[in-house]
Amino acid sequence: MHVERFESALWATTSLLVVSGDEAIAVDPCISSEEVRQIAACATELGARVTHVLATHADWDHVCGIAAFPDAVATMSEGTAKRLRAVDAGERVAEQAARYGVAVAGAPRVDRTLTPGVALDLGPFVVETLPLRGHTPDGTAYRLRTLDVLAVGDHLSAVEFPFASSTADYRLTLAGLVDLLRNDPPARVFPGHGPELSADAALAIAEKDLAYLHALRDAVASTVRSDDRAGARKAGLAVPLPREAPSDLSAARAANVEAQLAELVPTGTRAR
Ligand SMILES: [Zn+2]
Repeated sequence: MHVERFESALWATTSLLVVSGDEAIAVDPCISSEEVRQIAACATELGARVTHVLATHADWDHVCGIAAFPDAVATMSEGTAKRLRAVDAGERVAEQAARYGVAVAGAPRVDRTLTPGVALDLGPFVVETLPLRGHTPDGTAYRLRTLDVLAVGDHLSAVEFPFASSTADYRLTLAGLVDLLRNDPPARVFPGHGPELSADAALAIAEKDLAYLHALRDAVASTVRSDDRAGARKAGLAVPLPREAPSDLSAARAANVEAQLAELVPTGTRAR
């Protein structure tokens, strides 16, 4: 049994191919149809066919390759399935692909859902699953203990900073990952964007990201108490990022501040 990592030209997005005998799992096969074709070709070269596809979350860059594997079983959390079953899910993937100028396999599909926290039996593979809310409400991590591998979706990236849909969820997820990396570490950690990490490197990123989110909460909380929403935004945006990131991610930084405001101040009662 072994694992291959593939990296998309867009955002260094990770796809994994896990092979055992003549069967393989593709995790987040992505992004362009040509890149996904190479993943399928690699499986064929190794004498395997992709029998299962797993998605870490429903963001377009992680699900746009599912359609390239029509005979595989596409499995994901109920939350991810719900997002992909939305009537416009296919259109949204197509829109984003067009926006970034890539051709993709097609609309994503759902064949089976999982319960995060419960292990999956996928033919020759046993896959442990963990809920990872924070980047999105529907995230799932996958662990193959026989390979000592953990795939963590859009968390613990060495090339990005946290993009939080909920800052409270994201802190809980990071605290859980810190615990896992300290007490039950996998040898190899695969974030959704950027290179493979050792458990120690992943732990260092988790701690830095958690410190950033604590600093963000402190900055926004201390100003919002004085009813100064504009000041809270400014204070939130001034919090240093945990690592350098491309400038086109400034919208994500601002979205973190909005998520932090939403955690602290009920909608409708926000001052100014
Ligand atoms: Zn992503």
